[in-house]
Amino acid sequence: MNKEQYLDFLASWQEIVFILVFVALGLAVLNYLLFQVRYQSLKDFKEKFDMANEKQIKMLFRTHIFLAFAIFLFANTMSYETMQIKATWFFIRLFVAFCVGFLWGYVAQLILKFYYPGKLEKRLKKLRYTPRVNPETGNKMKLLSEEEEDAYLDEGMQAEENVFSVDYDVWIDPATGFTKIEKYKGHLSALECDRCGFQTLRLSKEEVVREATETEDGELFKEYKCSYCNRIKRKTVILSHKIKEQSETARLIDDPLAHDNRIAVIKIEIHATNGEVKEFDFQNLDQAKQFLSEFDLEKLHEDSY
Ligand SMILES: [Zn+2]
Repeated sequence: MNKEQYLDFLASWQEIVFILVFVALGLAVLNYLLFQVRYQSLKDFKEKFDMANEKQIKMLFRTHIFLAFAIFLFANTMSYETMQIKATWFFIRLFVAFCVGFLWGYVAQLILKFYYPGKLEKRLKKLRYTPRVNPETGNKMKLLSEEEEDAYLDEGMQAEENVFSVDYDVWIDPATGFTKIEKYKGHLSALECDRCGFQTLRLSKEEVVREATETEDGELFKEYKCSYCNRIKRKTVILSHKIKEQSETARLIDDPLAHDNRIAVIKIEIHATNGEVKEFDFQNLDQAKQFLSEFDLEKLHEDSY
C-alpha cells in the first residue's frame, strides 16, 4: 500500500466509522428506552418487580456494551492529522481505542455485578411493599403478616413456603375481603454478604437431604454463594416431621408402643436372686406383653433344668 492508497483508506475509514459511532450510540439509547417504556407501561407492581428483577441488570449491561463499542469507534476517528503521517499511528490508535472501549465495558460489568444489585434491591423492596390497590374498588390493600397469611394459602403453597425459598405475599382489601396473592422467589433476591458487605449473597443450591417422615424430622440443605468475595455459606434447615392423622394420634396415646415401627427388638432380661440371668428377645410389644403376663419363674426353672 503506498501513501496515496493509505490516505484514501484513512478518509473512507473516517467517514464509515463516524457513522458507526452513531449506530452504536443509537442502539444503546434504543435498548435503554425500550426497556423504560415497557417498564413504565406496566401498572402492576408485581409485574414491575419481576421485570426489574430479571431484566434490569441485563439491559444495563447491553447498553454499556453498545456504549463501549461507540467509544471504541469514536476513538478511531480522533487525531486525523497525526494518522496521515504514518500508518503505524493508525494501528496504535486502533489498539488504544480497543483498550479504552474494553475498560469501559469491564468497569460497567464490575459495577453492575457488585455495586448495582444493592441499589436495585432497594427499589425491588419498594415495589414489593408499596400498598396494592383493589382494582374493583380502588381501596388500598393491606399486607398480611406471615401468621395471618396462612389462612389464605393452600396446603401446597404453605409447604412451598416452609421448605423452599419461596415467599407468598397476601394482600387483602379489609373492606371487601378481596385478596391478591403474589409469589416471590427467595433465591432471586440477594442478601448482604457478612464478609464483604455487598448485597451479593445468593442462594446457589437447595436440596432436601432427608424427607421428613411421620416420626422423624427431615433436613434441608442450603448453600449461599457471594458473587463478589466468593464466600460460601452453608446452612441446614430442619424440616419438622409431619403431624399424624387425628385417629392415629389417639391410638398412640392409648398404647404408645404397640404398633411402633421404630421398634425392631424388645429384650427382656430376668435376673434371679441366685445370680441366674435369662434373656428373651421379642419382635414387638404384644409378644413381650404376652410373655410377661404368662411369666412364671418356676416354669422358667423347669425350662432351664
Ligand atoms: Zn461477599
